[in-house]
Amino acid sequence: MTDFNRLYEEIRSFLDDLWVVDTHEHIAAYKTQAHLDYLRTTINTYARMDLYSAGMSRETLARAMDPSLPVMERWLLCEPYWKACRNTGYIRMHERAAREIYGVAEISRETIETISAQFAARDAALSYCEGLERAKILCAIVDSDMDCDRRHLRPAFRLEEFVERIEIEAVRKALGAPIHTFIDWLDACEEMIRLYCGAGAVAFKTTIATDRSLNIGYGSYAEAEESFVRSLREDGEYLPPSSAYQDFMFRHVLSRVQRHGLPVQMHTGMAASNGNVIPNGNPLQLCPLFMEYRDLNFVIMHMGYPYQLEIGSLGKMFRNVYLDLSWAYLLSPNGAKAALSEWLDSVPATKIMAFGGDCGHEDHVYAHLMTAKDTVSRALADKVEKGCFDIDHAKWIAEQIFLTNPYRVFQLEKAGVRKE
Ligand SMILES: [Zn+2]
Repeated sequence: MTDFNRLYEEIRSFLDDLWVVDTHEHIAAYKTQAHLDYLRTTINTYARMDLYSAGMSRETLARAMDPSLPVMERWLLCEPYWKACRNTGYIRMHERAAREIYGVAEISRETIETISAQFAARDAALSYCEGLERAKILCAIVDSDMDCDRRHLRPAFRLEEFVERIEIEAVRKALGAPIHTFIDWLDACEEMIRLYCGAGAVAFKTTIATDRSLNIGYGSYAEAEESFVRSLREDGEYLPPSSAYQDFMFRHVLSRVQRHGLPVQMHTGMAASNGNVIPNGNPLQLCPLFMEYRDLNFVIMHMGYPYQLEIGSLGKMFRNVYLDLSWAYLLSPNGAKAALSEWLDSVPATKIMAFGGDCGHEDHVYAHLMTAKDTVSRALADKVEKGCFDIDHAKWIAEQIFLTNPYRVFQLEKAGVRKE
């Protein structure tokens, strides 16, 4: 066995036994799907984006996800596109789950019916939390699901209805409060944050980068109020707010979240849908906010892909910025390894979070986590082989980035998550 292989095996087996914090999941979306159908559950993930990029039309994708049609007929629609994408992280996650959970060599016309039958039986028998336990996930932070099962889940909340959009009627209904002025609106926003925090949220999550640039300016109160009053007058008609309104409200929300002591999970980099303006999500644009909100912790999600190498400088320069590898090993397994390797040369190990599944289904979380553990083991073994630090320190780093850092930053002890 070469030095590298021996080091890799030792770190990988250490990680096998380690329970981890998963910084980002989407359970709510998954729960509402017709999820007993294997092909639908498989395609209706990030895989859909690559299949579409490879040329599969929206209509064919919809047919392939229709559980009322025979599974073989639907698989044959996918087959050429699946082959085209067989090399990407999105599809490799499904292939790994098929191999390790369903015991087949690959997803193909020979195996699709067997996997489908096994999947339906397993899915009916296994609860989400049991799935997480099998993957040794101590706690996963779920996006926008305040009703999540608190055995292994804690929620993060969003506020698009106040920031990216102005949804007065929805907020009136949710709070049962009258909203007639912009002051009422700001009060309602504050009340919503208070309710989420009281109900056990551990982070504020924002995907503002998918709608507009992360270059957040200084909207004035008067500009924000004007945009709000325009929406109020339209009485339910949807009007996109001005960017000055969004700037003002985003800062308002950050100030209030800071008072409650929660961190902010920032979606950065590429959007989770085809066809979007990628530079909008460039996390380097956030520097002014990091300097302004010094006491607020920012978690830069998804390794800022494709800005994963640049953002090492953010973790290095700002004490309130954390680098997060959620979604990363699906976006690009090699990009994730290169990013981690770069960050390990420049960023304190206490600033990195190694895993967020960003999936939904427990099979996918499992397969993604196994790839994360393989990748981190490789990056660390490489550093030890090069003499950067010893194997014991590599294991210490592995524990920090998979468990200790997210546990501390999301204050999971206070949220009742027990490590032992
Ligand atoms: Zn996500």
